[in-house]
Amino acid sequence: MSEDRARLCALPSRYPRVFAAGPLPWGFEHGDGWCALLEDLCETINTLLLEEPDASVSTLQVKEKFGALRFYCRYASMSQALATRITTAIRSAEDASSQICEQCGQPAQRHAIRNVMTALCASCLAQRALLEDESL
Ligand SMILES: [Zn+2]
Repeated sequence: MSEDRARLCALPSRYPRVFAAGPLPWGFEHGDGWCALLEDLCETINTLLLEEPDASVSTLQVKEKFGALRFYCRYASMSQALATRITTAIRSAEDASSQICEQCGQPAQRHAIRNVMTALCASCLAQRALLEDESL
């Protein structure tokens, strides 16, 4: 397991109020390159939760879809105002993800590889292209 993957796997125990339903059933279903993005997002949500002691977030699924992050969760015991701010933080991380290489974390663009949208930097894209050629 890479160091980034280990850091991702540690998030549910680091932020129990963000993962109130426990660890993700399917883990973090995206590349290691989004590790720092997820760490920042969990830290932001956790800080926002400090405003309301009873509030919690049950994060249910975190995955890649169409070259961008999808963060699915449920809120409990929180005001509408706090829910709105947490939703804004999640949307902003989801938007940012499409410009962060899912593989290595460097600045990236979304590319269609065999009709599948993927957020990759130029060097990971070149590597992916080589692998695809070899598999033909
Ligand atoms: Zn990359």
